[in-house]
Amino acid sequence: MSDKKEIPYIESELYRIRHSAAHVMAQAVMEQFEPGEVKIAIGPPIEDGFYYDFQLPRQLTPEDFPVIEKRMRQIIAAKHKFEKRVVSAEEAQKEFNGQPFKLELIEGLAAGGIDENGEPLKEKPEISFYTHDVFTDLCRGPHVEHTGQINPSAIKLMSIAGAYWRGDENNPQLTRIYGTAFKSPKELEEYLWRLEEAKKRDHRKLGKELGLFYFSDDIGPGIPLFTPKGEMLRHLMEDYVRETQTRYGYEHVWTGHLVKEDLYKKSGHYDNYADVMFPPMVDENVSFRLKPMNCPSHMTLYKEMGRHSYRELPLRFAEFATLYRYEKSGEVSGLTRVRALTQDDCHTFCTPDQIQQEFSLSLQLIREVLERYRFSDYKVRLSLRGEGGKYVNDPEKWDLAEAALRAALDANRVEYFEAEGEAAFYGPKADFIARDVLGREWQLSTIQVDFIQPARLGLAYIGEDNQEHTPVVLHRAVTGTTERFLGVIIEHFAGAFPVWLAPEQVMVIPIADRHNEYAAQVAAQLRAEGLRVRVDDSSDRMNAKIRDAQKQKIPYMLVVGDAEQEAGQVAPRLRSGENPGAMPVAEFLALVRKDIAEGN
Ligand SMILES: [Zn+2]
Ligand SMILES: [Zn+2]
Repeated sequence: MSDKKEIPYIESELYRIRHSAAHVMAQAVMEQFEPGEVKIAIGPPIEDGFYYDFQLPRQLTPEDFPVIEKRMRQIIAAKHKFEKRVVSAEEAQKEFNGQPFKLELIEGLAAGGIDENGEPLKEKPEISFYTHDVFTDLCRGPHVEHTGQINPSAIKLMSIAGAYWRGDENNPQLTRIYGTAFKSPKELEEYLWRLEEAKKRDHRKLGKELGLFYFSDDIGPGIPLFTPKGEMLRHLMEDYVRETQTRYGYEHVWTGHLVKEDLYKKSGHYDNYADVMFPPMVDENVSFRLKPMNCPSHMTLYKEMGRHSYRELPLRFAEFATLYRYEKSGEVSGLTRVRALTQDDCHTFCTPDQIQQEFSLSLQLIREVLERYRFSDYKVRLSLRGEGGKYVNDPEKWDLAEAALRAALDANRVEYFEAEGEAAFYGPKADFIARDVLGREWQLSTIQVDFIQPARLGLAYIGEDNQEHTPVVLHRAVTGTTERFLGVIIEHFAGAFPVWLAPEQVMVIPIADRHNEYAAQVAAQLRAEGLRVRVDDSSDRMNAKIRDAQKQKIPYMLVVGDAEQEAGQVAPRLRSGENPGAMPVAEFLALVRKDIAEGN
């Protein structure tokens, strides 16, 4: 619960293992050819592994991987030490004679300005080698002590791709071999499983299979079109958050889609966010913008509602507002980056003394919502002010707000870590980072304290002292945006939504045409109880109907035939494959209600 600093990947043991594995792979690849035939470029660790770039006399394919991996394991088994040597530019040039890419890098290092991976550097670096066995690389490290510290059962070559030297298409094309390394074979296996699962769960693919949303060239990029099923999901998600917010004392407002550009000039958004706004619409002499954020609108509403006394605070305005942001068309992707996004936005207007209590309330709400969506593994990044001039210069307010945030996190026993220098310029913030079932991290909810916009837009309240004061505003989003969150949960649940969220909960499947009427009767009965039910009275055979319902990941199938019809019962088949047997409709209803209550 107390402050924790995360170890950056670059300082971790895994990073050193992967960097060392990249060197070992480079040696193994070079040994597949005659001496001097292979030109080596760069080979850094990356997020999930490492790569190395080569210029090869003959193209390699994944069929070559087993031989290279075998040789890597031999090099690992020999426990060769990684030895560092600082050298002069001349020595380096001599060592890499005949290696044009390395020579170019050495030139860059000697002149200062770029590192051995071609990345810009502030200071002129020292030139160093790392040698293990017969392989020497131009390298700053860090590495493990010896090759034996790489687990030979936890390495794997992944793929081959083309890559231009220094990413420039005017340069020679190189062969990039991707590999990965973990500490244990179990971790490697889990990683490979996650990769496979991620492909299967891709929300763009599942969205199509489940018939949830489409994109159209006629509409334009980044604007998803939601089908009835997709819109039902949105509606259920928004309803749930709306109901929860109401329970926590938030009130819902509505503030439209167009705003005069002038308001964004006053609020400061015009200067800072002009590039995410769509171009203006001009009416006579007035420019309007599609709303890219709600804050100025909610603050304007606060002002228009008249004079506020401290006794009315906190005021909590929530809105499901579809906002429009200009994402470059090449950067929009599925539901995770769209141009029309619906934020579950809230602005709390409060006194400085209320920051802690309001922050705490938001924490509890967010926690409840994340758990409902089965995100039980999450942490909070508390972003604080850092050095530099971008932060509003009001140390007293910063101290107050930062202390209030920490106190609320501690009181709610929320695990968090602090990130200095990551705050917005107008105040500290807390971001919720949740892990999905594949272990991927998603930044979802956020709460931000704001000292600046309320003053810029002239907001006030009358304090106990009868004087005018500026309220503090807390910006808060629970799920972030409906679209992105939907993309995340499609993958999180692999399309098998919990019963409360499933757009179709029950599929009634008549065995033959003569059962259609009874099926319709059962469906009507369940609909009257608030369930979302469809009857598959198509001419398909029963098995095909069942397969289709399974593919749609519908939680319950009710197969009805002569026996059920005569007994006035239903025979549920659960998504899990369970068959609890025939039962009266009332009993089935009780089963569904229990699943909904338990979040199944
Ligand atoms: Zn290296
Ligand atoms: Zn806001």
